Formats: sequence, structure tokens, C-alpha cells
Amino acid sequence: MNIQWYPGHMAKATRLIKEDLKNVDVIIKLLDARAVIRSENKDFNKIINQKKSIKVFNKTDLADDNKTAEWIKYFKDNNEDVFFVDALNKKGLNDVVNYLNDIKVNFRANREVRAMVVGIPNVGKSMFINAITRKSNARTGNKPGVTLSKQWIKVKGEFYLLDTPGVLPPKFDNIEDGVCLASIGSVKETILDREELALKLIEFLIDKYPNDLINRYKLDSVDKLPLEVYEDIGRKRGFLLKGGEIDYLRTAVTVLDEFKNGNIGKISFDGVNDL
Ligand code: GDP
Repeated sequence: MNIQWYPGHMAKATRLIKEDLKNVDVIIKLLDARAVIRSENKDFNKIINQKKSIKVFNKTDLADDNKTAEWIKYFKDNNEDVFFVDALNKKGLNDVVNYLNDIKVNFRANREVRAMVVGIPNVGKSMFINAITRKSNARTGNKPGVTLSKQWIKVKGEFYLLDTPGVLPPKFDNIEDGVCLASIGSVKETILDREELALKLIEFLIDKYPNDLINRYKLDSVDKLPLEVYEDIGRKRGFLLKGGEIDYLRTAVTVLDEFKNGNIGKISFDGVNDL
């Protein structure tokens, strides 16, 4: 599989975020509940140093509820403050806002807490920001003593959010990470070959979520090679080319889209056991 990785993107993204970091008290790391481990850009942790940060796992509506429950227990046992939310259906957001309003951050003067959202592409940063600022969308570019070029949005209470999220490049070192990040939509599919990506996703689903795959595509069995399952899916959907050959690309695009939309099931890549 051909994976391209651009170090320049990381350098540029972190440079931009570093600028904003000077002005914030707390970082909201927005992550994907389906990829608790892999949606975090670990390199970023070196940059934020001692700055307070919280983890917010989004898209719980698409994630495996059992795995999410395991993660919640894991973080609780480790005394880590994390939140599992669903920005699309506006679930769990108040807990984040209340927490941010409550924290006593060591900021210099007697002023509001300032936060910024960072995360890899497509994790839901814009939707999350819109969802938590929906009710009290007061933009405050020109507050006395605050010389900032960026827009700050007042959220309920004494808490401001930088309206532009920090975009971190997704980082992956191996095929499994790449497949996970492409499947959740954080790596452009064009970076990976879509047919190969779909095959890898099908292989993962056969292994971890066979029943979801069987039910979605009305398959008789997945007890065969991933490529054979791939072909069965194409055949079941009637994706055939002239001459009766499977339309592999159309099958791949369908599987990838349906996965992303949650049609195949509530599926998570990372579990506590993967730590
Ligand atoms: P960003 O690139 O991190 O700013 O991500 P966006 O806010 O643009 O969201 C990326 C995609 O994920 C969009 O299609 C959103 O509709 C979708 N999305 C965001 N949050 C959720 C969520 O909690 N659940 C679901 N199902 N979709 C979400």
C-alpha cells in the first residue's frame, strides 16, 4: 500500500498552532471515539508542554458502545478527565462547557478562561465549536487588553473559545493506522488506493465485526478470504461491469462511504486492549 507522509504539513500546522497557544489557557483535544488511540497526534503533546488540556472524544454515535464503555472505565480508573460527546446530535456537550467553566486555570489576570480546539481533519472540530457556541454566539475581537487577531467566541459563563480550530495532520507509521485514519475520514482517501483501503477495511470487519458486515450486505458467510468477501459485496449490490466482472472501484467507494456514514454499524478501531 502506498502511504505518503508529508513532514512539511506537520511543521506548518504546529507552527500555526504554537502561535495560538500563547493566548490560550486550556486546549481541547478533539478526538474520534472510534479511534481513541489513533486519532491522537502524539507529536503534538511535545509542543503543548505544561499547558492544560482535556480530551473530548466525538462521534460516539458512530462508535461501538461496548468499547466506549470500556474506555470510560479506563479513563475513570486512571483519573483522567475526558469526555465522550456527539456533536452531531448535541450530546454530552454541556458537561464539557461546565467543566471548562469550573476549572481554575492559572491564568495571569482576573479574566475568562480561553480555550482552543485542536484535532486531526474531519474529527468534527467545526461542528463541535458551532454546537457549543450556538446559544451564546458573541464574537469578541476587540476586548480591552486582548490584542488578538483571531476571533474569540464567548461560550456560556466566563469562557472563551478561539473560533478557528487548530488542524493537526494525522500521523501514521503503519498500514493499520493508515487504514483506520482513512476509514474515519481523517486521511484523504486519495492518499491510499481506495480498492486496497476497502479490502483492508473489509479484512478488519471480518475479524472484529463479522455480523455487522453480514447483515449489511446480506452475505451468506465471511468465512473466506477478504477478497472473496469484497467480491460477494459487489455481486450482492449488482456492481458488475460489462462481461460480468465485479466493479471493484464502485464496490470500494460504497463500502467506504457506508462505513463513514455508520451504515455498517457502530464500529470502533481502538479498544483498551490495544494499548
Ligand atoms: P473538522 O474537519 O474537524 O472541522 O470536522 P467537521 O466539523 O467539518 O466535521 C466533519 C464531518 O463529520 C462532517 O460531515 C460532520 O457532519 C461530521 N460530524 C461531526 N461531528 C459528528 C458527530 O458527532 N457524529 C457524526 N455522525 N458526524 C459528525
